[in-house]
Amino acid sequence: MATVAKQPVLTRPTGAPSMVPRITPREELNPFRIAQIQFDIAAEVLKLDPGLRQVLRTPKRILEVSLPTKMDNGQVKVMTGFRVQHNISRGPGKGGIRYHPNVTLDEVKALAAWMTWKTAVVNVPFGGAKGGIICDPKRMSKSELERMTRRFASEILPVIGPDQDIPAPDVYTDSQTMAWIMDTYSMMVGHTVPGVVTGKPISIGGSLGRAEATAQGLVYVVEEACKVKKISLRGATVAIQGFGNAGATAARLLADKKAKIIALSDTRGGVTNSRGIDPIKAIRYKERSGTVVGMPGASRISNDDLLTMKCDILVPAALENVITLQNAEAIKARIVAEAANGPTTPHADEILARRGITVLPDILANAGGVTVSYFEWVQNQEGLLWDSDEVNVRLQKIMVRAFHDMLEAMRKHHVPPRAAAMSVAVGRVAEATLVRGLFP
Ligand code: NAD
Repeated sequence: MATVAKQPVLTRPTGAPSMVPRITPREELNPFRIAQIQFDIAAEVLKLDPGLRQVLRTPKRILEVSLPTKMDNGQVKVMTGFRVQHNISRGPGKGGIRYHPNVTLDEVKALAAWMTWKTAVVNVPFGGAKGGIICDPKRMSKSELERMTRRFASEILPVIGPDQDIPAPDVYTDSQTMAWIMDTYSMMVGHTVPGVVTGKPISIGGSLGRAEATAQGLVYVVEEACKVKKISLRGATVAIQGFGNAGATAARLLADKKAKIIALSDTRGGVTNSRGIDPIKAIRYKERSGTVVGMPGASRISNDDLLTMKCDILVPAALENVITLQNAEAIKARIVAEAANGPTTPHADEILARRGITVLPDILANAGGVTVSYFEWVQNQEGLLWDSDEVNVRLQKIMVRAFHDMLEAMRKHHVPPRAAAMSVAVGRVAEATLVRGLFP
């Protein structure tokens, strides 16, 4: 034990046996299987009772809905949507809604489980849920998206509500999507219910600071990790995969801290400049052209090469399974800060830990979004309006405390960051489940 205790903090004890079971390459990329493996590791660390393990690794409720939508050409297209509530022991379900052609039920189940652990790791009184629609939002007009969203809202209406389950934006959904859901719900119940969704426009009860919250929370956690690893954020090199809400805002906020953004990317590819890229110019260029590719003053790089380039901080901010067995040995970053959900597979996680690369796990690193969603919900329920300073002071306090809870669990259980964060989260949900008891 003494040798283990002397290992550098924020890395996995060398020589520790693998905690990842033997799985097929197909399972390795199934997000729900991954979420269950991550849970099993934490359950093992905590020596949870087998019955309780079964309860916590299974979603509580799964709703699948058909969404007949009139397209602009007059034809009707039927999309499929899901809402999954993974666990609501600690409070109402909470989680975003994703629009993407590759949405699957297993993906939504995984994202819902990660929400359960995320709300628990930052200790806000919510459970975990998630929604998704299999659709191609880039090929849909605004009015088609509105009709599909309103139909989805009416179909999931029986299971959502400010005390039941509170959706929010995720990939390819935004504050406008939330406004349509809030309006549809309010029309159906006959009065205005701002607290049914978060991530709304400010004019209808959105919170100041929500748009930046995921990235802001990530920056607070990265700052703490840099202190522990003795890396100066000033001048640190950063590569970011995915230049949407989370990625572009992280680029801007990290640049504000004088970090040097040396690569950025989106679905069409990436750009790089070792002397630094101005995120504001990249945001403006993407607004005009729909991509960062081709922006002046930077050369092209592929998404794959971006992930393995030499940098201090790598921020995956797009989709799942981008750091896998295939490229984990080639990652050269010192810190991987997971803005995206599920970017690293369990085997890749172990490789990074063995190589001394610190992974700041998604359930902690991107929990700023759900934390400020909680603030938004509190303000809606109580009729309060906080200014952005108040939001950010509260956010920082919660993120820093959650980071140190994770650090303490690493020291206590001698496990890498994800298993430590998961053990904090699973421990909290297990305690809530046990004290409530089993119904009936
Ligand atoms: P977004 O739709 O605003 O942006 C996604 C970005 O990723 C876009 O720039 C897109 O071009 C890029 N992208 C998509 N597929 C890609 C690929 N294969 N390669 C490279 N880039 C690709 O979405 P977002 O809200 O920023 O979410 C991004 C990730 O962060 C998701 O995993 C999401 O679950 C997670 N997240 C978001 C929030 C939030 O508040 N927005 C909170 C927590 C977690």
